[in-house]
Amino acid sequence: MPASSSFMPPKRTLMGPGPSDVPDRVLAALAQPTIGHLDPAFQGLMEDIKALLKYAFQTENRLTFPVSAPGSAGMETCFVNLVEPGDTVIVCQNGAFGGRMKENVERCGGTAVMVMDDWGRAVSPAKVEAALKAHPEANILAFVHAETSTGALSDAETLCRLAQDHDCLTIVDAVTSLGGVPLYVDKWGIDAVYSGSQKCLSCPPGISPVSFGDRAIAKIRARTTKVQSWFLDLNLVMDYWESNGGARSYHHTAPVNAMYALHESLVMLKEEGLENAWARHQTMHEKLRDGLKELGLTYLVPAPERLPQLNSVMIPDTVTDEAAFRSALLTDHNLEIGAGLGTLAGKVWRIGLMGYGASDKNIALCLNALRTLLR
Ligand code: PLP
Repeated sequence: MPASSSFMPPKRTLMGPGPSDVPDRVLAALAQPTIGHLDPAFQGLMEDIKALLKYAFQTENRLTFPVSAPGSAGMETCFVNLVEPGDTVIVCQNGAFGGRMKENVERCGGTAVMVMDDWGRAVSPAKVEAALKAHPEANILAFVHAETSTGALSDAETLCRLAQDHDCLTIVDAVTSLGGVPLYVDKWGIDAVYSGSQKCLSCPPGISPVSFGDRAIAKIRARTTKVQSWFLDLNLVMDYWESNGGARSYHHTAPVNAMYALHESLVMLKEEGLENAWARHQTMHEKLRDGLKELGLTYLVPAPERLPQLNSVMIPDTVTDEAAFRSALLTDHNLEIGAGLGTLAGKVWRIGLMGYGASDKNIALCLNALRTLLR
Protein backbone atom coordinates (compact mmCIF):
# COMPACT_ATOMS: atom_id res chain seq x y z
CA MET A 1 0.00 0.00 0.00
CA PRO A 2 1.48 3.41 -0.92
CA ALA A 3 2.21 5.77 1.98
CA SER A 4 -0.55 8.37 2.43
CA SER A 5 0.41 11.98 1.98
CA SER A 6 -1.18 15.14 3.37
CA PHE A 7 -4.50 16.10 1.88
CA MET A 8 -4.51 19.31 -0.14
CA PRO A 9 -8.08 20.32 -0.97
CA PRO A 10 -8.68 21.97 -4.34
CA LYS A 11 -9.57 25.68 -4.27
CA ARG A 12 -13.25 25.84 -5.05
CA THR A 13 -15.86 28.55 -5.14
CA LEU A 14 -18.81 27.22 -3.20
CA MET A 15 -22.12 28.37 -4.66
CA GLY A 16 -24.26 25.42 -3.70
CA PRO A 17 -26.67 24.95 -0.79
CA GLY A 18 -23.81 24.96 1.73
CA PRO A 19 -21.16 24.79 2.91
CA SER A 20 -20.44 28.27 1.61
CA ASP A 21 -17.08 29.97 1.02
CA VAL A 22 -15.14 30.53 4.24
CA PRO A 23 -13.14 33.77 4.43
CA ASP A 24 -9.42 33.63 5.25
CA ARG A 25 -10.03 35.37 8.58
CA VAL A 26 -12.24 32.52 9.74
CA LEU A 27 -9.81 29.88 8.44
CA ALA A 28 -6.96 31.64 10.26
CA ALA A 29 -8.98 31.59 13.49
CA LEU A 30 -9.55 27.86 13.04
CA ALA A 31 -5.79 27.30 12.80
CA GLN A 32 -4.97 28.96 16.14
CA PRO A 33 -3.44 26.70 18.81
CA THR A 34 -5.85 24.37 20.55
CA ILE A 35 -6.39 25.09 24.23
CA GLY A 36 -8.28 23.14 26.88
CA HIS A 37 -12.05 23.31 26.67
CA LEU A 38 -12.23 24.28 30.36
CA ASP A 39 -9.35 26.78 30.08
CA PRO A 40 -10.45 30.18 31.46
CA ALA A 41 -9.57 31.74 28.09
CA PHE A 42 -11.88 29.30 26.31
CA GLN A 43 -14.63 30.00 28.83
CA GLY A 44 -14.31 33.70 28.01
CA LEU A 45 -14.69 32.83 24.35
CA MET A 46 -17.83 30.79 25.12
CA GLU A 47 -19.42 33.80 26.79
CA ASP A 48 -18.56 35.99 23.81
CA ILE A 49 -19.98 33.44 21.36
CA LYS A 50 -23.25 33.37 23.29
CA ALA A 51 -23.46 37.18 23.24
CA LEU A 52 -22.74 37.29 19.50
CA LEU A 53 -25.30 34.58 18.81
CA LYS A 54 -27.92 36.57 20.72
CA TYR A 55 -27.19 39.44 18.37
CA ALA A 56 -27.40 37.21 15.28
CA PHE A 57 -30.70 35.69 16.44
CA GLN A 58 -31.97 39.07 17.74
CA THR A 59 -32.83 37.60 21.12
CA GLU A 60 -32.24 38.10 24.80
CA ASN A 61 -32.75 34.37 25.45
CA ARG A 62 -30.24 33.20 28.05
CA LEU A 63 -30.36 29.72 26.59
CA THR A 64 -28.56 30.61 23.36
CA PHE A 65 -25.47 28.61 22.49
CA PRO A 66 -23.83 26.51 19.75
CA VAL A 67 -24.47 22.76 19.76
CA SER A 68 -21.21 20.90 19.08
CA ALA A 69 -22.52 19.15 15.97
CA PRO A 70 -24.10 20.06 12.60
CA GLY A 71 -27.52 21.58 11.90
CA SER A 72 -29.24 18.19 12.14
CA ALA A 73 -28.15 18.00 15.79
CA GLY A 74 -29.60 21.46 16.42
CA MET A 75 -32.83 20.16 14.90
CA GLU A 76 -32.76 17.11 17.17
CA THR A 77 -31.94 19.26 20.20
CA CYS A 78 -35.19 21.16 19.65
CA PHE A 79 -37.33 18.09 19.05
CA VAL A 80 -35.96 15.69 21.67
CA ASN A 81 -36.21 18.30 24.40
CA LEU A 82 -39.59 19.77 23.48
CA VAL A 83 -41.56 16.79 22.17
CA GLU A 84 -42.73 14.22 24.69
CA PRO A 85 -44.58 10.99 23.95
CA GLY A 86 -48.24 11.87 23.38
CA ASP A 87 -47.59 15.40 22.08
CA THR A 88 -49.19 16.50 18.82
CA VAL A 89 -47.01 18.64 16.60
CA ILE A 90 -48.16 20.47 13.49
CA VAL A 91 -45.33 20.07 11.00
CA CYS A 92 -45.19 22.12 7.81
CA GLN A 93 -43.56 20.46 4.84
CA ASN A 94 -42.72 22.36 1.65
CA GLY A 95 -39.42 20.64 0.90
CA ALA A 96 -36.93 18.08 2.18
CA PHE A 97 -36.31 19.43 5.64
CA GLY A 98 -39.94 19.49 6.81
CA GLY A 99 -39.88 15.74 6.19
CA ARG A 100 -37.01 15.40 8.64
CA MET A 101 -39.05 17.29 11.23
CA LYS A 102 -41.81 14.68 10.90
CA GLU A 103 -39.23 11.92 11.46
CA ASN A 104 -38.02 13.71 14.57
CA VAL A 105 -41.52 14.10 16.03
CA GLU A 106 -42.32 10.44 15.49
CA ARG A 107 -39.03 9.25 16.94
CA CYS A 108 -39.86 11.29 20.06
CA GLY A 109 -43.18 9.43 20.41
CA GLY A 110 -45.25 12.38 19.21
CA THR A 111 -47.90 12.58 16.50
CA ALA A 112 -47.09 14.74 13.49
CA VAL A 113 -50.01 16.48 11.79
CA MET A 114 -48.67 17.40 8.36
CA VAL A 115 -49.43 20.65 6.54
CA MET A 116 -48.23 20.07 3.00
CA ASP A 117 -47.28 22.68 0.43
CA ASP A 118 -45.70 22.26 -2.98
CA TRP A 119 -41.92 22.08 -3.16
CA GLY A 120 -40.94 25.56 -4.31
CA ARG A 121 -43.69 27.42 -2.44
CA ALA A 122 -43.75 29.07 0.97
CA VAL A 123 -45.69 27.46 3.82
CA SER A 124 -49.33 28.58 3.52
CA PRO A 125 -50.45 30.45 6.68
CA ALA A 126 -54.10 29.71 5.77
CA LYS A 127 -53.43 25.95 5.79
CA VAL A 128 -51.55 26.25 9.08
CA GLU A 129 -54.43 28.16 10.64
CA ALA A 130 -56.89 25.50 9.47
CA ALA A 131 -54.68 22.75 10.98
CA LEU A 132 -54.39 24.63 14.27
CA LYS A 133 -58.18 24.97 14.42
CA ALA A 134 -58.74 21.33 13.49
CA HIS A 135 -56.21 20.09 16.09
CA PRO A 136 -56.76 21.92 19.37
CA GLU A 137 -54.72 19.16 21.05
CA ALA A 138 -51.56 20.31 19.18
CA ASN A 139 -49.02 22.03 21.41
CA ILE A 140 -46.16 22.73 18.96
CA LEU A 141 -45.92 24.18 15.44
CA ALA A 142 -42.72 23.36 13.53
CA PHE A 143 -41.63 24.82 10.20
CA VAL A 144 -38.58 25.62 8.09
CA HIS A 145 -38.01 29.36 7.65
CA ALA A 146 -35.72 29.05 4.62
CA GLU A 147 -36.17 25.77 2.68
CA THR A 148 -32.72 25.05 1.31
CA SER A 149 -34.03 22.21 -0.85
CA THR A 150 -36.17 24.62 -2.89
CA GLY A 151 -35.18 28.23 -2.18
CA ALA A 152 -38.55 29.22 -0.66
CA LEU A 153 -38.84 31.66 2.24
CA SER A 154 -41.81 31.33 4.59
CA ASP A 155 -43.46 34.09 6.59
CA ALA A 156 -42.12 33.15 10.02
CA GLU A 157 -43.66 36.17 11.74
CA THR A 158 -47.21 35.27 10.65
CA LEU A 159 -46.74 31.56 11.37
CA CYS A 160 -45.49 32.32 14.90
CA ARG A 161 -48.42 34.66 15.53
CA LEU A 162 -50.85 31.92 14.48
CA ALA A 163 -49.10 29.46 16.80
CA GLN A 164 -49.36 31.90 19.72
CA ASP A 165 -53.06 32.49 19.01
CA HIS A 166 -53.57 28.74 19.41
CA ASP A 167 -51.32 28.26 22.46
CA CYS A 168 -48.66 26.39 20.55
CA LEU A 169 -44.91 26.65 20.93
CA THR A 170 -42.85 27.10 17.77
CA ILE A 171 -39.79 25.23 16.56
CA VAL A 172 -38.18 27.09 13.66
CA ASP A 173 -35.47 25.80 11.32
CA ALA A 174 -33.24 28.80 10.59
CA VAL A 175 -30.30 26.82 9.20
CA THR A 176 -30.19 28.80 5.96
CA SER A 177 -31.94 31.98 7.12
CA LEU A 178 -29.62 33.10 9.95
CA GLY A 179 -27.51 36.02 8.73
CA GLY A 180 -29.08 36.00 5.24
CA VAL A 181 -32.63 37.30 5.68
CA PRO A 182 -34.43 39.09 8.54
CA LEU A 183 -34.95 36.80 11.53
CA TYR A 184 -36.21 38.26 14.81
CA VAL A 185 -36.45 35.55 17.45
CA ASP A 186 -37.83 37.77 20.24
CA LYS A 187 -39.97 40.13 18.16
CA TRP A 188 -41.66 37.21 16.39
CA GLY A 189 -41.96 35.17 19.60
CA ILE A 190 -40.07 32.11 18.33
CA ASP A 191 -39.77 29.59 21.17
CA ALA A 192 -37.02 27.32 19.85
CA VAL A 193 -34.75 27.90 16.86
CA TYR A 194 -31.74 26.15 15.37
CA SER A 195 -29.27 27.06 12.65
CA GLY A 196 -26.01 25.92 11.09
CA SER A 197 -22.52 27.37 10.84
CA GLN A 198 -21.98 26.57 7.17
CA LYS A 199 -24.52 28.75 5.37
CA CYS A 200 -24.85 32.53 5.78
CA LEU A 201 -22.39 32.62 8.69
CA SER A 202 -19.60 31.53 6.29
CA CYS A 203 -18.05 29.19 8.79
CA PRO A 204 -16.98 25.59 8.25
CA PRO A 205 -19.77 23.03 8.83
CA GLY A 206 -20.23 21.18 12.09
CA ILE A 207 -21.74 23.63 14.59
CA SER A 208 -25.40 24.40 15.21
CA PRO A 209 -26.39 27.61 17.01
CA VAL A 210 -29.65 27.22 18.96
CA SER A 211 -31.82 29.44 21.16
CA PHE A 212 -34.71 28.65 23.54
CA GLY A 213 -37.15 31.09 25.12
CA ASP A 214 -38.84 30.95 28.52
CA ARG A 215 -41.97 29.12 27.34
CA ALA A 216 -39.82 26.40 25.76
CA ILE A 217 -37.73 26.07 28.92
CA ALA A 218 -40.90 25.80 31.02
CA LYS A 219 -42.09 22.92 28.82
CA ILE A 220 -38.73 21.17 29.16
CA ARG A 221 -38.78 21.62 32.95
CA ALA A 222 -42.31 20.19 33.12
CA ARG A 223 -41.34 16.98 31.30
CA THR A 224 -42.44 13.78 32.98
CA THR A 225 -40.13 11.61 30.85
CA LYS A 226 -36.36 11.75 30.42
CA VAL A 227 -35.02 13.31 27.21
CA GLN A 228 -34.07 10.18 25.27
CA SER A 229 -30.77 11.62 23.99
CA TRP A 230 -28.10 11.98 26.65
CA PHE A 231 -25.85 14.16 24.46
CA LEU A 232 -28.60 16.59 23.47
CA ASP A 233 -30.40 16.79 26.84
CA LEU A 234 -30.47 20.53 27.50
CA ASN A 235 -30.55 20.05 31.26
CA LEU A 236 -27.09 18.51 31.01
CA VAL A 237 -25.62 20.59 28.18
CA MET A 238 -26.46 23.79 30.00
CA ASP A 239 -24.30 22.91 32.96
CA TYR A 240 -21.44 23.16 30.51
CA TRP A 241 -22.52 26.26 28.56
CA GLU A 242 -23.86 28.16 31.61
CA SER A 243 -21.36 28.82 34.37
CA ASN A 244 -24.09 30.15 36.73
CA GLY A 245 -21.38 31.97 38.61
CA GLY A 246 -19.71 28.68 39.55
CA ALA A 247 -17.44 26.20 37.80
CA ARG A 248 -18.54 24.75 34.48
CA SER A 249 -19.00 21.02 34.64
CA TYR A 250 -17.66 18.69 32.00
CA HIS A 251 -20.27 17.44 29.59
CA HIS A 252 -18.39 16.79 26.34
CA THR A 253 -15.17 18.08 24.84
CA ALA A 254 -16.18 21.08 22.77
CA PRO A 255 -14.65 21.30 19.28
CA VAL A 256 -12.36 24.09 20.45
CA ASN A 257 -10.98 25.21 17.09
CA ALA A 258 -14.38 25.06 15.44
CA MET A 259 -15.58 27.46 18.14
CA TYR A 260 -12.73 29.86 17.30
CA ALA A 261 -13.99 29.82 13.72
CA LEU A 262 -17.61 30.36 14.70
CA HIS A 263 -16.56 33.24 16.92
CA GLU A 264 -14.64 34.92 14.12
CA SER A 265 -17.51 34.55 11.68
CA LEU A 266 -19.88 36.10 14.21
CA VAL A 267 -17.44 38.96 14.82
CA MET A 268 -17.44 39.57 11.07
CA LEU A 269 -21.24 39.58 11.02
CA LYS A 270 -21.32 42.08 13.87
CA GLU A 271 -18.74 44.28 12.13
CA GLU A 272 -20.80 44.33 8.94
CA GLY A 273 -24.06 44.74 10.85
CA LEU A 274 -26.96 42.32 10.57
CA GLU A 275 -29.17 44.67 8.53
CA ASN A 276 -26.30 45.36 6.13
CA ALA A 277 -25.69 41.63 5.71
CA TRP A 278 -29.39 41.07 4.93
CA ALA A 279 -29.32 43.96 2.42
CA ARG A 280 -26.16 42.61 0.75
CA HIS A 281 -27.79 39.20 0.24
CA GLN A 282 -30.81 40.88 -1.36
CA THR A 283 -28.69 43.11 -3.64
CA MET A 284 -26.53 40.20 -4.76
CA HIS A 285 -29.60 38.05 -5.36
CA GLU A 286 -31.04 40.73 -7.66
CA LYS A 287 -27.77 40.94 -9.61
CA LEU A 288 -27.60 37.18 -10.01
CA ARG A 289 -31.29 37.02 -10.96
CA ASP A 290 -30.78 39.60 -13.74
CA GLY A 291 -27.76 37.71 -15.08
CA LEU A 292 -29.57 34.36 -15.00
CA LYS A 293 -32.50 35.92 -16.85
CA GLU A 294 -30.15 37.05 -19.62
CA LEU A 295 -29.00 33.45 -19.93
CA GLY A 296 -32.61 32.36 -20.32
CA LEU A 297 -32.79 30.59 -16.94
CA THR A 298 -36.02 30.73 -14.96
CA TYR A 299 -36.73 30.38 -11.24
CA LEU A 300 -38.63 27.59 -9.50
CA VAL A 301 -39.99 29.84 -6.74
CA PRO A 302 -42.38 32.76 -7.42
CA ALA A 303 -40.61 36.12 -6.87
CA PRO A 304 -42.32 37.16 -3.59
CA GLU A 305 -41.40 33.85 -1.92
CA ARG A 306 -37.76 33.67 -3.08
CA LEU A 307 -34.81 33.29 -0.77
CA PRO A 308 -31.99 35.63 -1.81
CA GLN A 309 -29.35 33.18 -0.59
CA LEU A 310 -30.63 30.09 -2.44
CA ASN A 311 -31.61 30.44 -6.07
CA SER A 312 -33.29 27.39 -7.58
CA VAL A 313 -33.37 27.57 -11.37
CA MET A 314 -34.99 25.16 -13.81
CA ILE A 315 -32.46 23.11 -15.77
CA PRO A 316 -32.89 24.04 -19.45
CA ASP A 317 -34.01 21.31 -21.89
CA THR A 318 -30.79 21.79 -23.86
CA VAL A 319 -28.83 20.23 -20.98
CA THR A 320 -29.24 16.49 -21.43
CA ASP A 321 -26.87 15.40 -18.65
CA GLU A 322 -27.13 17.78 -15.73
CA ALA A 323 -24.69 15.85 -13.52
CA ALA A 324 -22.04 16.05 -16.28
CA PHE A 325 -22.77 19.77 -16.55
CA ARG A 326 -22.13 20.30 -12.83
CA SER A 327 -18.96 18.18 -13.06
CA ALA A 328 -17.75 20.45 -15.84
CA LEU A 329 -18.43 23.50 -13.68
CA LEU A 330 -16.33 21.91 -10.96
CA THR A 331 -13.43 20.71 -13.10
CA ASP A 332 -13.25 23.58 -15.60
CA HIS A 333 -14.24 26.47 -13.33
CA ASN A 334 -13.69 25.16 -9.79
CA LEU A 335 -17.28 26.14 -9.14
CA GLU A 336 -19.72 24.12 -7.07
CA ILE A 337 -23.46 24.57 -7.50
CA GLY A 338 -26.10 22.28 -6.01
CA ALA A 339 -28.20 19.55 -7.59
CA GLY A 340 -31.94 19.28 -6.97
CA LEU A 341 -33.01 17.25 -3.93
CA GLY A 342 -35.81 14.68 -3.69
CA THR A 343 -38.61 15.39 -6.16
CA LEU A 344 -36.55 18.20 -7.69
CA ALA A 345 -33.55 15.99 -8.54
CA GLY A 346 -32.69 16.42 -12.22
CA LYS A 347 -35.11 19.36 -12.51
CA VAL A 348 -33.35 22.26 -10.78
CA TRP A 349 -29.93 23.59 -9.91
CA ARG A 350 -29.50 25.34 -6.60
CA ILE A 351 -27.21 28.36 -6.70
CA GLY A 352 -26.18 29.63 -3.30
CA LEU A 353 -25.28 33.19 -2.42
CA MET A 354 -24.53 32.64 1.22
CA GLY A 355 -22.62 34.85 3.62
CA TYR A 356 -19.17 35.78 2.37
CA GLY A 357 -20.03 34.11 -0.96
CA ALA A 358 -22.80 36.66 -1.66
CA SER A 359 -20.37 38.81 -3.63
CA ASP A 360 -19.95 40.44 -7.05
CA LYS A 361 -16.90 38.26 -7.62
CA ASN A 362 -18.83 35.02 -7.16
CA ILE A 363 -21.73 36.20 -9.29
CA ALA A 364 -19.38 37.14 -12.16
CA LEU A 365 -17.62 33.76 -11.92
CA CYS A 366 -20.89 31.84 -11.88
CA LEU A 367 -22.52 33.72 -14.76
CA ASN A 368 -19.39 33.46 -16.86
CA ALA A 369 -19.08 29.71 -16.23
CA LEU A 370 -22.76 29.10 -16.99
CA ARG A 371 -22.55 31.24 -20.14
CA THR A 372 -19.54 29.27 -21.39
CA LEU A 373 -21.03 25.85 -20.75
CA LEU A 374 -24.57 26.63 -21.93
CA ARG A 375 -23.28 27.79 -25.31
N1 PLP B 1 -32.24 22.24 7.83
C1 PLP B 1 -32.00 22.89 6.69
C2 PLP B 1 -33.01 23.87 6.17
C3 PLP B 1 -30.82 22.66 5.99
O1 PLP B 1 -30.58 23.31 4.84
C4 PLP B 1 -29.88 21.73 6.50
C5 PLP B 1 -28.65 21.44 5.75
O2 PLP B 1 -28.49 21.76 4.60
C6 PLP B 1 -30.17 21.07 7.69
C7 PLP B 1 -31.36 21.36 8.35
C8 PLP B 1 -29.22 20.07 8.27
O3 PLP B 1 -28.01 20.67 8.58
P1 PLP B 1 -26.64 19.83 8.59
O4 PLP B 1 -26.44 19.32 7.20
O5 PLP B 1 -25.61 20.83 9.02
O6 PLP B 1 -26.81 18.72 9.55
